[in-house]
Amino acid sequence: MLEERLRRTIQEIEDSCKKAGRKREEVTLIAVSKTWPAETLREAYDLGCREFGENKVQELVQKYDSLPKDIRWHMIGHLQRNKVKDVIDKVDLIHSVDSIRLARTIEQEAAKKDRIIDILVEVNVAQEESKFGISPREALKFVEEIAAFPHIRVRGLMTIAPFVENSEENRQVFADLRKLSVDIAEKSIDNVSMDVLSMGMTNDYPVAVEEGATLVRVGTGIFGGRDYAKNRMTEK
Ligand SMILES: *Cc1c(COP(=O)(O)O)cnc(C)c1O
Repeated sequence: MLEERLRRTIQEIEDSCKKAGRKREEVTLIAVSKTWPAETLREAYDLGCREFGENKVQELVQKYDSLPKDIRWHMIGHLQRNKVKDVIDKVDLIHSVDSIRLARTIEQEAAKKDRIIDILVEVNVAQEESKFGISPREALKFVEEIAAFPHIRVRGLMTIAPFVENSEENRQVFADLRKLSVDIAEKSIDNVSMDVLSMGMTNDYPVAVEEGATLVRVGTGIFGGRDYAKNRMTEK
């Protein structure tokens, strides 16, 4: 049941914070609602969720239109440049910026709307070939380049850790992302804050919290297993 799963997830975050000597307020839970219909999000909303994560532009836009306006929307999936204009005035944070070309498009669309967009740089810490994200070696240079765009504010880093049986196997991945963010923060680049670390999903978020995550992205742990086949009609 949604209520019970949500309660357990929040408890788990609290326990991990305690274990790591962190304050509970340092960690924000994002309910990853991809593939779930708006009614399910509404249920989570009524239970107190205000942060939702989606990985497809069309889905985010549909749900945005049918749900309360005090929700904060997170674009966590790979973003195509031609879709940026559709979400630019709806998202609160784009987690998945991994190319200068994409950043330039975000800059242009944000300028048109006279907005400043918060973004995270997606880093492929584990260097998996199947994953999007820039390599850790290139991260500093990449952040410096994006920092020059006046309508983009770099808030931090995001990673998608490998799928592993034992979440302990990802501890180093999370520690590495944290270290990278500290290293970049030390450069005190204008327009760059590095106070957000988006890492940890259903299988490994407690470890991510212990290693410094400020945003955890939990889907299955809150909503249960996703049925992609049933939701094919909403995909594009
Ligand atoms: C789907 C997704 C999640 C959530 O995955 P779960 O394993 O269901 O918690 C988190 N981050 C990204 C980028 C995703 O695409």
